[in-house]
Amino acid sequence: MGDDPTVLTLLGGVGTVTGSKTLVTRGGRRLLVDCGMYQGAREWRRLNWEPFPVPPRSVDEVVVTHCHLDHCGMLPVLVRDGFDGPVRATPWTAELAAIVLRDSAHLHERDAEQARAGGWSRHDPPLPLYTVADAERAIERFGPVAYDVPADLGGGLEAVLGRAGHVLGSASVLVRAGDASVLFSGDLGRRTHPVLRARAAPPAARTVVLESTYGDRTHPAADDAHEELADAVRRTVDRGGSVLVAAFAVDRTPLVLHTLTAMIDSGRVPRVPVYVDSPMALRALDVYRRAAADGELTVDVASIGRHPAVHEVPGPEESRELNDPLRPCIVVSASGMASGGRVVHHLERMLPDRRHCVVLTGFQAPGTRGRALVEGVREVKVRGRYVRVRAEVVQDEGFSVHADAAELVDWLRAMPEPPRTVHVVHGEPAAAAALAERVRDALDCAVSVPRPGERVRVD
Ligand SMILES: [Zn+2]
Ligand SMILES: [Zn+2]
Repeated sequence: MGDDPTVLTLLGGVGTVTGSKTLVTRGGRRLLVDCGMYQGAREWRRLNWEPFPVPPRSVDEVVVTHCHLDHCGMLPVLVRDGFDGPVRATPWTAELAAIVLRDSAHLHERDAEQARAGGWSRHDPPLPLYTVADAERAIERFGPVAYDVPADLGGGLEAVLGRAGHVLGSASVLVRAGDASVLFSGDLGRRTHPVLRARAAPPAARTVVLESTYGDRTHPAADDAHEELADAVRRTVDRGGSVLVAAFAVDRTPLVLHTLTAMIDSGRVPRVPVYVDSPMALRALDVYRRAAADGELTVDVASIGRHPAVHEVPGPEESRELNDPLRPCIVVSASGMASGGRVVHHLERMLPDRRHCVVLTGFQAPGTRGRALVEGVREVKVRGRYVRVRAEVVQDEGFSVHADAAELVDWLRAMPEPPRTVHVVHGEPAAAAALAERVRDALDCAVSVPRPGERVRVD
């Protein structure tokens, strides 16, 4: 066993920011790190429908870095198609992933049903990628692992999860296999986070698999003030309009509420009602409040949406009533890239009216409605129909939960000693290439941007 080489196979999340999947093999043991779904442009999403890149039955264990679909979204397919081992993740990731996977399965089922009724599917009959029952079976496989406590994965493999400061529960994963060690950054947060405990300094490892979402970008200097958002709210309310904030339910909603309620309290924006209109966001807020009580957050429970101005929107009826607000308000809804969820029907009604304002709060993947809005399209397709875009569109980069290029390199530099090799993944090609160049300049190590499906040996 001691002489068995450890090999990484970059199965997904290569050449794009979504679909993260890396296989670690040693001897007969096969560990999958992340089991992500492709999102965004159709040519990538199409890959979700292809046979899983390795036989699911051949995988012994899965480690999931965090709850985003691009890291855990294909677990229901993996389990349905034969995987029967444990899925390791932090307890918070396990809780949030359960919320995310149920919602994802529900949307797949609903889309298939709508496509069947509308007759616009390319599948005949239209099928969901997976069902709610598939998601439930995947959720049952989660086995929580605490931060910094080594987990024995069998076959001489061991994993240690470290805080990544990206979203609640997010982790970098150190995999040790005999003498070999490989550190998966997972998605990394900025140096500090407005509500989460900051990312930890990384442990020593000879090989690093590094994300590069913002590998060619520099975030504006710490914009904790969110002046652009405050400005947009003031302007919109002044002209009698309402603000629609598209927020990623499981991570951005707590930040947005924390920020907006602080702005209301300090008088920076008028005191208008704030509606949280996303069942998934409400479920996630519960998890964040428990995490706050457990010391996992740096703010108290009260600042996570427990505020007199904040109202939770219980059902679809109340949600529809918000379409035509009689007086200015702020609606915080999901999904963050405006590709699904209740935000869609709000967009349909609010986009054609120039009094309103749509705020996007994070990375918008190519091919999504959010990306199109940021790029200034004049019409956007919503539920099969084109809708004119007259409302103001604002992107608040200050809500980013991803490290920028300098922050990614800083994280590498914080390792006790430089790694021998860095593989740059999880980025659009330009971002990955730019980050690779930056890492070469900063560290004395070999740097690669792997090809999809590439196999590399680690030591
Ligand atoms: Zn993420
Ligand atoms: Zn990601």
